[in-house]
Amino acid sequence: ANCQTWVKEKINLPSLFGAAFRIKKSELLHDLRLLPSFEECVNDKLQFNLLTRIHNLRPDDAFIEPCGVGYIQHNPPAPTLTEEEMDFIYEFPFTRQLHPHTKNKAWNESMVGKLQSSVIIGRGCWGSCNFCVIPLVQGKDVAKRSTESVLKEIETLYTSGVHKINDLTLPTLNMYGSSCELYDHPEHLHSPIVDKEITYHTKKQYCNQQCVGCPHRKISDQLYPLLEGVEKLNQKYAHTSLELRSAIRHDIILDQPKLFRKIMQFISRLKIAPEHISDQVLKNMNKSTQDAFVRFLAEYKKINQEQGTHKNLVPYFVAAHPGSTEESMQELKEFCTKNDLFVNLTQVFTPTPGTVSTAMYYSGENPLTREKIHVPRAFREKKDQKNILLIQDNEDASDMNS
Ligand code: SF4
Repeated sequence: ANCQTWVKEKINLPSLFGAAFRIKKSELLHDLRLLPSFEECVNDKLQFNLLTRIHNLRPDDAFIEPCGVGYIQHNPPAPTLTEEEMDFIYEFPFTRQLHPHTKNKAWNESMVGKLQSSVIIGRGCWGSCNFCVIPLVQGKDVAKRSTESVLKEIETLYTSGVHKINDLTLPTLNMYGSSCELYDHPEHLHSPIVDKEITYHTKKQYCNQQCVGCPHRKISDQLYPLLEGVEKLNQKYAHTSLELRSAIRHDIILDQPKLFRKIMQFISRLKIAPEHISDQVLKNMNKSTQDAFVRFLAEYKKINQEQGTHKNLVPYFVAAHPGSTEESMQELKEFCTKNDLFVNLTQVFTPTPGTVSTAMYYSGENPLTREKIHVPRAFREKKDQKNILLIQDNEDASDMNS
């Protein structure tokens, strides 16, 4: 209680983006949207689904959540960082070393080795996959660094003796520079990061948050000139190179043919996350259809032929997502066999706080469509689903059960 009083006295919580804090009835702001109460969510799974649906459809809003004898006020999330703020943060002279007191330092160093020579180019993802927490923790809009700032960092690394940049990182590489045109209402605030007034943009119109394929989403090829800039640096500094390792969104890249070809010049293998192939499961994941993946595979093959390469594809799949059955996993396996896809990146669905898929897992109902769905919950069923995909026909399933 003392700590709570101290925070309330020292910090103006209602003015702090992203803060959630307890208030009394007398402090209620009546223009804020009311969520189902904590007690209602605990006692009724469909109320929890309602809370998830409201939060999913109004990601920029503030909310009030009744809880016990009081209320929790959830402030709106912080606005997406501007390019100037991103450049300021990422141009700090980071040591790129683990903290000296890191436990198991040698082992951890071997794990993060490649990260030490990778360069962050942005944050956030608008892919709207139902199981993913990235929009909840990094934001749904992409905050990006400027091309100049990224190239400056790469040049600094090259001049300090690094010969290979191991990735330009962004949750979804081909979203660099993209934006939603409905965020067009300018607002101003003082940025403590760059210590001056900045302009950010909010969206006044309601939308259903289905950004992939939305006519208001402006796809951008701004990564292309950035990669051209890297090529120039690689010519300037002998024996230097960049390898891209971040995943791309395979359905969006179909609308970026020039960028797709440029990215292919910087990879040794391409990571993508189709996640499944059954359209029913894909619908529950809010991923694009099997047809989009088939078109992607054809385009990938075509570009490999154009460039005279045979680069591997590394697809990532999820077993036991709500809606997934042994039959749908069998369909996925047959698809991979038919298309000669090597599968070794497969994970059993893990519920994470705040996602739509977690609400499905908890309630057995899709909170957005309200359809009832089968949820694999038992350890055995989840394991069996994963094994369907991973076990070769001549292998013994018992080998995979450890
Ligand atoms: S208008 Fe379209 S692109 Fe913009 S946030 Fe909504 S769904 Fe996404």
